[in-house]
Amino acid sequence: MTTSDSTEATVQGNGKVAVVTGASSGIGAASARALAAAGYTVVIGARRVDRIDALATEIGGRAMYLDVTDAASVERFAATLDRVDVLVNNAGGAKGLAPIAEANLDDWRWMWETNVVGTLRVTKALLPALIASGDGLIVTITSIAALDTYDNGAGYTAAKHAQSVLHRTLRPELLGQPVRLTEICPGMVETEFSLVRFNGDTDRAGSVYNGLTPLTADDVAEVIAFAASRPPHVNLDRIVLMPRDQVDARRNIRTG
Ligand code: NAP
Repeated sequence: MTTSDSTEATVQGNGKVAVVTGASSGIGAASARALAAAGYTVVIGARRVDRIDALATEIGGRAMYLDVTDAASVERFAATLDRVDVLVNNAGGAKGLAPIAEANLDDWRWMWETNVVGTLRVTKALLPALIASGDGLIVTITSIAALDTYDNGAGYTAAKHAQSVLHRTLRPELLGQPVRLTEICPGMVETEFSLVRFNGDTDRAGSVYNGLTPLTADDVAEVIAFAASRPPHVNLDRIVLMPRDQVDARRNIRTG
């Protein structure tokens, strides 16, 4: 099915519906594939509809335009969903790499609107359906940038810390409700992340991964599918995964 379809996604496989935000590339696209392979009917959202239409056709899911920074878009997206068992809050990213003294406020706003307020909007909109499923799961892709700081990265690390706080606060708030919460904190994953961060500068984006072996989007997606496959009483609270060549947000095999 594609964005042109307004009907509900047909429930198939394991009978459950998984929603993935930001599924037009990277971790989101890989997660959609992994969850479809695990038997979920997957509903994917992003702004580049040509890409999600193609992915929906490939995995037998449904695609719909979604801009997590736009309340009306999130409302329209949520209104098409009858049932939600899994929500993967993946839409996000970084813009720029600058010291606070030279911070670009538009970049900061983009990061906060996308990673933090976007996650809030989508989670709030889909929470009733997740609770009603009887065994809901919210997976939020934060980052190791949610656990630490690094020079020139405060716009992103601050937004990821805030997104993590939002996610972790939900856990006790939902105690007693049938919803599990899993935070995924990846280190370096080779996706379009650096291309977005450096405004399409392919050389600069590619140099981020020179001299080390980063994670792939599939490496992260497999972990998400594993978390989703746990029985209802098992909550994987936080999973941190990095390449062997990286030890934290500041140090990798290149920097020593
Ligand atoms: P990516 O390839 O750039 O994918 C980002 C996705 O987010 C795209 O599908 C993009 O789709 C979507 N997106 C951005 N703004 C959006 C908006 N306003 N509304 C809806 N979708 C939006 O990067 P990625 O590495 O897979 O990133 C996925 C998540 O992992 C992000 O939250 C990122 O912060 C996190 N993460 C990445 C890394 C890494 O090293 N790559 C490490 C830790 C955490 P459209 O542009 O088509 O809307």
